[in-house]
Amino acid sequence: MFKLNNIISNEQINQSKLSSATDILKNMQSELVSYISEGFGPFLAAIYDENGNLVAKSANTVVKDQCSNHHAEINVIKKAEEHFGSYDLSKYNLSLYITSEPCMMCLGAIMWSGIRNVYYSVPSEDVERITGYDEGFKQNWFDEFAKRGITVYGNIESELGQKVLKDYVLGGNVIYRPQR
Ligand SMILES: [Zn+2]
Repeated sequence: MFKLNNIISNEQINQSKLSSATDILKNMQSELVSYISEGFGPFLAAIYDENGNLVAKSANTVVKDQCSNHHAEINVIKKAEEHFGSYDLSKYNLSLYITSEPCMMCLGAIMWSGIRNVYYSVPSEDVERITGYDEGFKQNWFDEFAKRGITVYGNIESELGQKVLKDYVLGGNVIYRPQR
């Protein structure tokens, strides 16, 4: 595990990758506020190619679609695979940007999509503390992703993301989850 201030990564931290991810995630956090006001869930994901072009973007549509697996990551990976007409995105060297750390389900979806790089804002422990969602159990996933050639950078603009989640909860929006 590599650290730089609050940022954590499973590779030696690359300043230029971090700086472009910071710009993208800052913009996504403010865009997410608009998505929430339109009834989307409080998570946004975007996929960019290696030249910095946007390939696909999607927010969480669990409530809109009444489907428990329509997380932002699942939605955006599906869009990108439709865009390229391929179930294997590895040859396109794509990066996934997410406003919060991926949950247990989405880790699997990312692994099997061929996405090469992952950048996120809010770590799961803060998502759970603020919203009450259950993000699952995900031991050593930074190391497991490193073994599979997937780089991960976390906690980018986390404070900004936490504020968006707090406002979602304060706004009385639905916290969708199964009854236990
Ligand atoms: Zn998820």
